[in-house]
Amino acid sequence: MTTTQTRPTRIGEATIAEFAAGLRGTVVRPGDADYDHERSIWNGAHDRRPTLIARCAGVADVIRTVDLARSEGLPLSVRGGGHSIPGFSTVDDGIVLDLSLMKGVQVDPARRRVAAQAGCTWKDLDAETQQFGLAVTGGLVSSTGIAGFTTGGGIGWLVRKHGLASDNLVGADVVTADGQFIHASADENPDLFWGLRGGGGNFGVVTSFEYQLHEVGPTVLSGLVFYPAEEAEQVLRGYRAACAAAPDELTTLVNMTTAPPVPFLPEWVHGKPVIAVGGCWSGDPDAGEAATASFRSLGTVIADVFAAHPYAGWQQALDPLYPRGVHNYFRSAFLRAADDASVRVLLDSFAASPNAMTEIHLHHLGGAVGRVPAEATAFALRDQEFIVNVIARTPTAEGFTDVVEWARGVTSALGPDVAAYVNFTGEANTTLVRASYPADTYRRLVQLKNEYDPTNLFRLNQNIAPTV
Ligand code: FAD
Repeated sequence: MTTTQTRPTRIGEATIAEFAAGLRGTVVRPGDADYDHERSIWNGAHDRRPTLIARCAGVADVIRTVDLARSEGLPLSVRGGGHSIPGFSTVDDGIVLDLSLMKGVQVDPARRRVAAQAGCTWKDLDAETQQFGLAVTGGLVSSTGIAGFTTGGGIGWLVRKHGLASDNLVGADVVTADGQFIHASADENPDLFWGLRGGGGNFGVVTSFEYQLHEVGPTVLSGLVFYPAEEAEQVLRGYRAACAAAPDELTTLVNMTTAPPVPFLPEWVHGKPVIAVGGCWSGDPDAGEAATASFRSLGTVIADVFAAHPYAGWQQALDPLYPRGVHNYFRSAFLRAADDASVRVLLDSFAASPNAMTEIHLHHLGGAVGRVPAEATAFALRDQEFIVNVIARTPTAEGFTDVVEWARGVTSALGPDVAAYVNFTGEANTTLVRASYPADTYRRLVQLKNEYDPTNLFRLNQNIAPTV
């Protein structure tokens, strides 16, 4: 759907052969049996043909790949988990730096820390940390990469209790645009550390993330409760009131959607619009029923599948609903509060949903997110109680433009100046990038970009353009 600015650049066969020979990982090129598989990403809307895909096995491979892209003047696409909605993790006529072979995870249970290589997904990380009853805020779909997720912010089921994924980052190893390998933390390169926590992939390739962990599970009271769409207004208003009284241990969201044909829903509702409330209670197990009760009695309950689930299992529960390969577009809007006007927009937009695959999510934030000072990280919009994520999907390209227009219309109706979230933005759009940061934060991001990537080698991202 979206287009990437590229110019066809030829790279010599000898250069490629020398590059491939020096790599511990592999190089995939047009004509190779696995080329079509390796060039594809989660979002089927982006069908691009890279010149080469470097499947890096370690830091040395990453440095070599960054050096090759810079010296050859080729567009460079950095791929962690490949879940970029705008398709930044693939590119026409350029180099894909693929980190998916780099999945090492080292948990230090005594210090409650984990070091994870940048090719990990949340499924990889949760499997290792949950072995020790530990976790850090991860994505709602377990195949999402830790890399893009964390550098953009990172909202998940533990966000109100433990903050964003990026709030739990204590250090990162980074390959910069000039091929240097440096560490970023509160003590080393603190300016870069600030930018990596919300500024996206603008400043370098993170090869390893170190996170603070927390005791979570092994089971958490979690699930979904489904209400009829006819009661959407009552449910949304009740949800807003329940959120105002929710403890930090409870993270919830609303999904205005279409009932999937799953066995836990009665057949009569399959394919009909419904409003679902999902949640995860990560506090004292004995207090969970009482803490979630107000969210589970907002209307006529069609099905309530809240139960004590293994945390890692709950992290994977929604995976089948977001399959790889269909056409996707996301559009987001932070809401300082879910006022009556915003609730009306969500209700009217839901009623006008163009197909059964489109959804509107309303995530409750606050809690630990709001307690971090706005200037502490590049993710600075911490006084917003909710974030709306509009999900527009079609099975193929047919009708995709229409659902994209619908999604854009939803956030425009929420206001001309609504702030966006870089990780839920489905297109490369400089206006939306600016709308993702307060003015002071954006200025600081530009300074950082000028320092670390003045030639904008890392431009396939929600781009902070350098000014030097
Ligand atoms: P990739 O496509 O691999 O990378 C996306 C971008 O991140 C790259 O273009 C690059 O700019 C940057 N990047 C990737 N790797 C690195 C690296 N090693 N170093 C520096 N920069 C890098 N977001 C949430 O906050 N909460 C959710 O619950 C959530 N759920 C999602 C569910 C689905 C099905 C999808 C598709 C997305 C979801 N997202 C969510 C959005 C997600 O956070 C972003 O799409 C994120 O960019 C995905 O990271 P990735 O590594 O998988 O993506």
